[in-house]
Amino acid sequence: MTSNEIKALTGQYIMNTYGRFPVAIDHGQGATLYDPEGNAYIDFTSGIGVTDLGYGYQPWVDAITAQAQKLGHVSNLFYTEPPALLAETLCKRTGESCVFFANGGGEANEGMIKLARKYSFDKYGKGRATIITLNNSFHGRTITTLMATGQEVFHNYFFPFTEGFRYADANDLTSLEAAAGDDVCAVMMELVQGEGGVLPLDVEYVQAVKKICEEKDWLLLADEVQTGVGRTGTLFAFQQYDILPDVVSFAKGIAGGLPMSGIMANEKCRNVLGPGTHATTFGANPVCAAAGLVVQETLSEAFLEEVKAKGEYLRQGIEALDLPCFGKTRGMGLMIGIEVKDGYNKSEIANKLIENGLLVLTAGPGMRLLPPLVITKEEMDKGLAIMEKTLR
Ligand SMILES: *Cc1c(COP(=O)(O)O)cnc(C)c1O
Repeated sequence: MTSNEIKALTGQYIMNTYGRFPVAIDHGQGATLYDPEGNAYIDFTSGIGVTDLGYGYQPWVDAITAQAQKLGHVSNLFYTEPPALLAETLCKRTGESCVFFANGGGEANEGMIKLARKYSFDKYGKGRATIITLNNSFHGRTITTLMATGQEVFHNYFFPFTEGFRYADANDLTSLEAAAGDDVCAVMMELVQGEGGVLPLDVEYVQAVKKICEEKDWLLLADEVQTGVGRTGTLFAFQQYDILPDVVSFAKGIAGGLPMSGIMANEKCRNVLGPGTHATTFGANPVCAAAGLVVQETLSEAFLEEVKAKGEYLRQGIEALDLPCFGKTRGMGLMIGIEVKDGYNKSEIANKLIENGLLVLTAGPGMRLLPPLVITKEEMDKGLAIMEKTLR
């Protein structure tokens, strides 16, 4: 089909819930995508932080193929090898103790919220179920995670929402203290706010929150759906904050492009979600887990150092262009935000770049770049050249 045929068919038969860019994608190689007409696009989006190994990565294709030939699904009523191996790797590399696998970020966060509330219920009974989250956060699109999201625009249309969330300002301990109370059981945060605009939390703040959580027996819940799996230059962002959260959610990049998510919990939380308390039919799918194992094998410590170096290179490259529409860059690893100056429109900038062969994202008030972690220097240079040509 041609791009126009795909767009027309989509318009007719798929619910119009997405504001799409006017591009159809057919295939990809490395960090370059192609439309059905063969036009190339440098990808600074990774399918919103998902395709960390880029496109056509042979070990990933081979592992999925081999596992699909053996067994595609059997449910969690039985044991399978790939998710057990993936859970082992995640625990050994992070210091967490156990994993629950699910399918998407919002669903993982639901599990994390359930775990926090049940931890408190088991120990203290009812009435201690409130979770403090941060203003400007994003935690998902389910009725509960919309309410966990600390942005008013998401608290609309779908009433009634789940109760039991209170919001504090990021990097502000006074605001956290103001939100505290006898009804609180946990604090939930993204270590780098992604959808909110690529805003990293301060190390001192996060460590102080961890300490408060320990004192009050609140659980510290890290939403690493976007920051996890190498995106920030360590396997998980919390490793750069020198803390071990009680529970960590992950999703986007975990299986390199197949739908998979999960939560990891420390020893204290191991038995909170016992048999019958939580489940999901597709969770721990062996094909997704086999893909996840390739991601883990690829993301060696040396590879993660490269991610940091590439992030630095790209940020310096953007700042050196000194484009009229862009201000400072910020972020960690290959999770990069670019300030858009007053008088310029982030969506217009994104559309112009895409027209010229560079896929980018927006977030909060500015631009957001999440290139595949395997992106090459040549591809980054091509992307920078397109920025220069388009936005000068
Ligand atoms: C993307 C995202 C989610 C939601 O993940 P889905 O897979 O879309 O449900 C939750 N939290 C954060 C931090 C995210 O970036």
